Amino acid sequence: MNVDLLVHGGTVLTVDAAGTVVADGAVAVREGEIVAVGAAEELRTGFTAKECVDASGCLVLPGLVNSHTHLAMTLLRGSADDVTLQGFLGRVLKWESEQLAPDTVAAAVRLAIAESVRAGVTSALDMYWFHEAAESAAREAGWRLFAGPTFIDVPASPDGRAYADRIAWARRDLERRGPGRPGHRPALFAHSTYTLSPAQLTEVAALAREFGALLHVHAAENAAEVATVVSRQGRRPVELLDSLGLLGPDVVLAHAVDLTGPEIAALARTGTAVAHCPVSNLKLGCGIAPVPQLLGAGVTVGLGTDGAVSSNTLDVLGAVRLAALVHKADGDPTAVGAEQAVRMATIGGARALGLGDHLGSLEPGKRADMVVLDLDAPHLRPAHDPWSTLAYTAQAADVRDTVVDGRVLMRDRRLLTLDERAVLDAVSRSPERPQEGPA
Ligand SMILES: [Zn+2]
Repeated sequence: MNVDLLVHGGTVLTVDAAGTVVADGAVAVREGEIVAVGAAEELRTGFTAKECVDASGCLVLPGLVNSHTHLAMTLLRGSADDVTLQGFLGRVLKWESEQLAPDTVAAAVRLAIAESVRAGVTSALDMYWFHEAAESAAREAGWRLFAGPTFIDVPASPDGRAYADRIAWARRDLERRGPGRPGHRPALFAHSTYTLSPAQLTEVAALAREFGALLHVHAAENAAEVATVVSRQGRRPVELLDSLGLLGPDVVLAHAVDLTGPEIAALARTGTAVAHCPVSNLKLGCGIAPVPQLLGAGVTVGLGTDGAVSSNTLDVLGAVRLAALVHKADGDPTAVGAEQAVRMATIGGARALGLGDHLGSLEPGKRADMVVLDLDAPHLRPAHDPWSTLAYTAQAADVRDTVVDGRVLMRDRRLLTLDERAVLDAVSRSPERPQEGPA
């Protein structure tokens, strides 16, 4: 059988339900889809490949899914550190309304994609302004981006579009997309329960549901946010969303740090997914999401970096390590183990997007998003256990090759679909940084 790509010779961590690891394994890909996973010797004999990647001495794993980010905020990296969430928002929202334009977003997203591909991140759920610019940058780079119209009722929106016009604009956007390709899904982004009214949230969710789109919302990021929503609406953010019928398997909540037991039960009952962003949560002093309880209740949890202002990098492996460590702080070293943390960054993220049948593991019939991680380094030897290697020792810079939808985007650490020099030069003339505001 002829295939387009054969990645062969490495240890293949499939992240399938059984946790199958194939030593000296291989993955065969045709038209962007995985057609076989098995012993390298067998696949070398059974398939003739147009392109081969020799992964000997490497770990082959599913591409990492960044299930909550704001990619274009790479432009503001290092410009609002060591402040609270509310201080951070005060600085950033003002800067965005004054400085953002489609070309700055495109340049910032190219930078984010270059960083992500280097870190083995093959897709992201990205809430931001000028999503069309982000989507065309991702398309050019061959990278899997889940973006779409964003709703946030701020006085001066960066795109100059009045809030009242946004539903009609989003409807046109969804209509234009037509039937989706496998591994893709339309999405709408409702910023939060403190920047949108219950009526506005309901209207956005109804539109998302009409088109089978994913709905992504920030919720319960810290205690101050919860207090604000309680004072305005008489309910906590997750309670409010539940009372409005806005939880469900088509909804991903970012953060979900400040949750009550009944709220965790509501997420489980409704099949609502959570994007856990441990780096951002710690850096903004928001707290630690109750991930062991969420997983225990059966809630789907993906891992996100959040934007590069609050997490400074888009390094999902870094988030894996922190997720595997931070929940042990209460004294239980079994809280979120290495395998659980790696699953959150792969199949968990794919399920959160509603694409668990198409992404998140290396199995026949799934889209070929995969990563080859070079184990030929002192900090990675000996490699007794691939889950442990990924959760506790591997770093973004150990990623050697990255494949999205069967296309090799990085080979031997060289980006093939982005001119990295031009990408870096384009953001060296970055716009003025946000003004200091209240911390
Ligand atoms: Zn966010």
